[in-house]
This record gives sequence, structure tokens and C-alpha cells, in this order.
Amino acid sequence: MDAGMPLIDFTGVTPRPGALDVRWIHGSPSAKHNTDPDIQVHTYDEHTFILRQNMAIDYEAPFLFLLFGNARAVLIDTGATASAEFFPLRRVVDGLVAGWLARHPREEYHLLVLHTHPHGDHVAGDGQFADRPDTTVVGADLATAWEYFGFGEDPDAVAQVDLGGRVLECLAAPGHHEAAVAFYDRWTGFLLTGDTVYPGRLYIQDWAAFARTIDRLIDFSDRRPVTHVLGCHIEMTGRPGVDYPIRTTYQPDEPPLQMTTGHLHEIRAAIKEIGDRPDRRAHPLFILWPTP
Ligand SMILES: [Zn+2]
Repeated sequence: MDAGMPLIDFTGVTPRPGALDVRWIHGSPSAKHNTDPDIQVHTYDEHTFILRQNMAIDYEAPFLFLLFGNARAVLIDTGATASAEFFPLRRVVDGLVAGWLARHPREEYHLLVLHTHPHGDHVAGDGQFADRPDTTVVGADLATAWEYFGFGEDPDAVAQVDLGGRVLECLAAPGHHEAAVAFYDRWTGFLLTGDTVYPGRLYIQDWAAFARTIDRLIDFSDRRPVTHVLGCHIEMTGRPGVDYPIRTTYQPDEPPLQMTTGHLHEIRAAIKEIGDRPDRRAHPLFILWPTP
């Protein structure tokens, strides 16, 4: 980075409020006639973008996060579709980076690609960044991601990823997937929970690990200001406890993406009540869904 460029102060009074009054694209009765953008870009603040993949391209319609720091930006997750033609993630991200750099000129600027977990709907776009200059794509698989964060050595560590004044704190969050990671962004106060916590079916592969992860997320957020708990999907309807069936591509009655730390407590209480014999249970905004 050029020392002459003015640095953005990401410290001071945080978290800073941003905008989440957004109507997400939510599919259409006919996927063929869908006129929404391939990727919706929501500006939370001038350094923070939330992206949603169009449901007509893939029913999973995952959310992705692009956060800018002084030295580099991080893209968290790369969506459910590999094809740059059908899902032009690289083009959209390059456009956002170019726009940000026009407003905040830098000699050098890096892009880091991290993931919430290695399921296909969160890593499919990785290949679009393989030949991107000044870019590091950290593999989402257990061996690669946990080595990067240092969780292999200490799964209870809180890793820090410095984007240049903007620091992300990262926790191992196994349960939905053994390699899952949760992220806390001090600047926005976002707790990014991947597929561990979101308004939908919380598929739990390892019940004990999931319970422990929820405990850790609660303990972690007790000591930091969390503005929003943000996962990567919306699967619930506006009716408490009722989800859209899997593979739905039109969800006109979705609840908001954002949840609160109160929901973490609600999940913990439900787990405690269920005990150590995993069982499916619907709550207003999520369904605990042990697998297989
Ligand atoms: Zn997912």
C-alpha cells in the first residue's frame, strides 16, 4: 500500500450501524422468466456488501459477504454455481473492488477468499478467482482452512484476519460441517454463522459438536457487541416454524436474513431440552434438523 494514501479508520467507535432494510431477490413463479439480477448486491455501508445469488440459477440462493479493509478485501463464500456465464461472481466482485478503489485509491490491493464451510453451494465459484491477480483463495476443506486459521493446532483459538485496520475474528464452528468457520467483524458487529445459524433448516451432522459451537458462539458474543447474526440462506416462510420445501425457487414470504444473539440462546435452550438424543424440532425462525 502507498504510504501516501489516506487510511480509513476502522477502529474507534464500533460497531458502526448500516442499512439492512433490503428486499432480497427471492425467485419467481417461473424461473425461466425471472428478471432479477444474477447476483443481488446490497450495500450495508460503503465498505460492506452483502450478495445474494439468484434462486433461478440455484435454489440454494446463498448469501455471500464482501468486506473491505485498507489493504485487502475478503469475499466470504463463492456461491452455488461454478459457471461465470450463469453466475458472474468474479465480474460482480471485480466491479465492486474497482468501485471501492476509485473512491479509496490504493497502489496495491489484495482479495482474500474465505469460506464458511466446504459444501458445494458455498465454494462452487472458487474457480472464477483462480487466475485473478493479487488474490488468495483459501480452500474450504478441513485440512486447508483449519491450517490457515490455526484451528488444527488449537480448535478453540480465536484467529484474527487483518484486512488492513479492519480485523475479523474467526472461530472453528463444527456441527453442521466439521470444517465450518464463523466470522465476527468488529466494524459492523456482524456475526457470520454460515449454515450453522440462519432462518431455515439447521442441518446438524454432529449434534455434540453443534451444541458446543452454539455454546462458544454465545460465550464469544457475550464479550462483543453483535449487531446482527447473519447466516447464508433463508428457508423459512413468514409463518412461524414453517419452512419452504427444499428446492423451492419462489419464496415471496421470506423473513429477514438477520437474526440476533437471542436466537443463539433459543437454539441452546432447545438443544438442552432435547438432550443427547438428536431430534428434529421447529421453532418460529429455525428448525433443528439432525442428519442423517
Ligand atoms: Zn448452504
